[in-house]
This record gives sequence, structure tokens and C-alpha cells, in this order.
Amino acid sequence: MSDSGAGDGTWPIWGHSHAVRELKAAVTRGPHHAYIVSGYQQLGKRTLAIAFAQALLCTDPPNPGVACGACRSCLRITRGSHPDVSEWNLALQQQVAEKSSTSRNLTLNISTVRAISAGLALQPLESRYRIVIVDDVETMQETAQEAFLKTLEEPPPYAVIILLTSDSELLLETIRSRSTVIQLQPVPTAIIAEGLRSEGVELEQASVVADASEGRPGWAVRAAADATILAERRELYTETQRWIEADRYNQLIEATRLGEAFGKDRNAVYARLAALQHQWRNELLTSLESRSDDRSTAALLALKSIDTCFSDLDANVRPKLALQTMVLQWQSSQQ
Ligand SMILES: [Zn+2]
Repeated sequence: MSDSGAGDGTWPIWGHSHAVRELKAAVTRGPHHAYIVSGYQQLGKRTLAIAFAQALLCTDPPNPGVACGACRSCLRITRGSHPDVSEWNLALQQQVAEKSSTSRNLTLNISTVRAISAGLALQPLESRYRIVIVDDVETMQETAQEAFLKTLEEPPPYAVIILLTSDSELLLETIRSRSTVIQLQPVPTAIIAEGLRSEGVELEQASVVADASEGRPGWAVRAAADATILAERRELYTETQRWIEADRYNQLIEATRLGEAFGKDRNAVYARLAALQHQWRNELLTSLESRSDDRSTAALLALKSIDTCFSDLDANVRPKLALQTMVLQWQSSQQ
């Protein structure tokens, strides 16, 4: 998480020890051409990719497989100005697109894939490797993925391609089979709290933020620096609990409101669904502990309805309909 390197023996990464071990070995042994780092938002995928790039290109490694964090190469990678390291993501594509058109891109498209491939065709300017880090890969359309596959099939010898995705299952099997897949898991709360402490966050705040982080170091760092993030999360969970406890009429009204908001801000709707999932999972755990069969059944039905809603939204079912159908599966707590 810190901008600097790790000093001597470790990478500047909180948790993910399995992934770090594997990538560190790859630095000393020589990397594969393609990696897929998979895990949900703010789990540390990009931080890991940057640390990997630094370890690969560091000109003064204190230990095998470890970047110094202080040489010109390491510093330029941190600043995003190393000529042999390029980063791609949806936001960047958006910026490029907005100069030429007004259309809103929700997927990494084929022109971005072509630009990535063209960049990779150039010899590295000053390093052994040319590294590309591509984020939001799960949004790549199938035609774009197929075009990308050509680069993966015959990568130039110096290429190291790091694909970051919320879900590696959304990528073509042919892409996955040509890549080393690294699956990131949520980081234990204690490790996040310890990381925050090492960055100077006070004990109590570190523990509150780590508890709320759901294993996401990236979220924890932002929340520790900006109190509104924690407050927003509290509000999200309060609103979600209110939705669950409302009567059927008001549950449907909220579903309709969110359905109508989906076109403008789908991430806000996904955040509500994720919060909903979280609350119902907690309800399931409590009901199992208290051996309340009725409550467990209700929670299981609700969780299933949320899964269905997620798939409906992915399948372009009308958002309003998908959300209304979901709440109709909930057993009312007032009954
Ligand atoms: Zn260095």
C-alpha cells in the first residue's frame, strides 16, 4: 500500500502471501508471459501488479525478487511514468473516447486491445521486459477478447501481460489457459488493522476501519484517510436494513426507485445488492445459531433472489423488473 518499496525482504503488500510468494519466485526464475490477477474491487489487484512490475524492473534489488522502491525505475513505476510499463483500464479508455465521441463505454473495446498489442510490439526502451497492466478485463467484449488472444498466442519474448479482473470466469477459456491465474482472497481483518497501524492510523480507528473493510486493503486505506467513506458505508447498511424491514409496498417502491436509477449509476445499485447480500448472510448465520428454521429458510430464499437479480441484470432483464421480482421473493418479516 505504501508508495515506497519494502526495504529488504518483503513486498509492500498487505496479506496475499501466497500470491506474493508465487510472483516473487517468478521474478527470480523469469516470468511467464501472461498473468490473470482475479478478485473483487479494492482487494489489492493493482497494487500487486505494480509491485510485481517494480520487482521485475528494479535496478538495485536488495534481495532476489524484491524491489528496492527507491531506484529510478521503481520511482517511475510508482509515478506511472516508466517507458516500459503501461496501464490500461476503462477510465483511461473513457478519457480517450470522450475526445472523439460522446458515447459512454462500459466495456474495454477492440481499439483499446489494438493499442495494447501495438505497444507490446515495440522493444523495451531500457529494461528486460515490457509490462502491460490491463484492469477491468471482465468488461472486455468477446470480440475484443478474441483479438487479445492473438497477442497472448504469440507474445514477444520480452512481454509480461498482467490482466486484472473481478472475475476470471468471465474470460474466454482460451485466455485463461494461456495465463497463470492468481486468485486473491479477502485479507484477514487483523492484517489490515496492522497495515493501517504501520501507516500511522490510531489503534481504535484502525480496528474500526479494518472491521468494516470486508477484507479490502484498498478500501481500508481510503476509508482511513477520508471519514465520509465510513459514514457512507454506515448509511448504505442502514438504508439496506430499512429496505429489508419495510412492508411489501415500500419494498417494491424502493426496488422501483433503484431500477430506475440503474441506467445512470449501476455501481450504486450493485453496492446496494452487495449490502443486501451481506445483511441476509448475517441473518442466515444468526438464525442458524439460534436454530430458527423459519428465519433460515427466509434468509436462504432472499439470498437466492439476490443471486437471480444479479444474473437478470447481467442478462439485460429490465432493471425495474429484476429488482421487483427479487423483493417479491422475500418473506415479509411482518407476517
Ligand atoms: Zn528499485
